[in-house]
Amino acid sequence: MKLINFTKDGHTRAGAIVENQVIDLNYAYQAQLKAEGKYRYEQIAAAFVPNNTDELYQGGKESIALANGAIEFALANPDSFDKKLVHELSDVKVEAPVIKPGKIICVGHNFRKHIQEMGREIPSNPVIFAKFANTILGPQDDIPFYPISDQLDYEAEFTFVVGKQARNVSEEDALDYVAGYTITNDVTYRDIQRRTLQWLQGKTVDGSAPMGPYLVTSDELTNPSGLSMVLKVNGEVRQDTNTEDLVFSVPKLVAFLSNLMTLEPGDVVLTGTPGGVGVAMDPPTFLKDGDVVTIEIDQIGVLENKVRATEAVPVR
Ligand code: MG
Repeated sequence: MKLINFTKDGHTRAGAIVENQVIDLNYAYQAQLKAEGKYRYEQIAAAFVPNNTDELYQGGKESIALANGAIEFALANPDSFDKKLVHELSDVKVEAPVIKPGKIICVGHNFRKHIQEMGREIPSNPVIFAKFANTILGPQDDIPFYPISDQLDYEAEFTFVVGKQARNVSEEDALDYVAGYTITNDVTYRDIQRRTLQWLQGKTVDGSAPMGPYLVTSDELTNPSGLSMVLKVNGEVRQDTNTEDLVFSVPKLVAFLSNLMTLEPGDVVLTGTPGGVGVAMDPPTFLKDGDVVTIEIDQIGVLENKVRATEAVPVR
């Protein structure tokens, strides 16, 4: 399943993309239950196929399987319910496949060739840091460029979302705890990142984690290794790698992180970026207003966002 949230008429709901259509998962499951003659279909659907992805992940594989069935029902019976089950993709705004994850854990220095070309030792423990839910943008949003720095940089990141509560999970069992995979641009204000030892302040500016174009669920993408990953700025290739080059693979990260903390459904892990970031170019080349950053990962898709200079922090 290509899982998203989508906004239509001011409401944001969980959906799945099927070709050029978006299925409303909660309404689809309600419609299916009603057609089966079930009572309290609204409440049952709210429990098992809720209307936002953060809660849907809490239902684990059971909820994903029910949602898959509901998609088939909706496509076969699009007009069977008093709510719209199927939208044209062009009629909705596609949002990130998470809304307010409890954790966004990021890994630094995780691509073997990049570490070696920088003359560093392969680390024995991953570097980890955090972003927060304020950074999340969808695939159709622009990346805001606030006038707090002139060193805005990109980082292509293969990303997974946790699908089941995980504590002290072994590498062998780790993939069973993954809901699916997506792409994130770990947008970084490079000078702000580097002005103190802790990177956090350059990593947590509003809108610095565009994510998408959707989450490919782990029943469809079963092997997260061996996926090619390319980032372009205005069509020019800047980063080009493969997830088989990760020092700390997805299973290793699930095992390592779940040894430290309980991972919850919906938690997001960005697995690190390869060589080729703007700050490492000669001369350093940063993003500017109007630049288009495109990240493509094999078996997932393409995440493309435009950089938009933003005069001031918007008043909420
Ligand atoms: Mg990063």
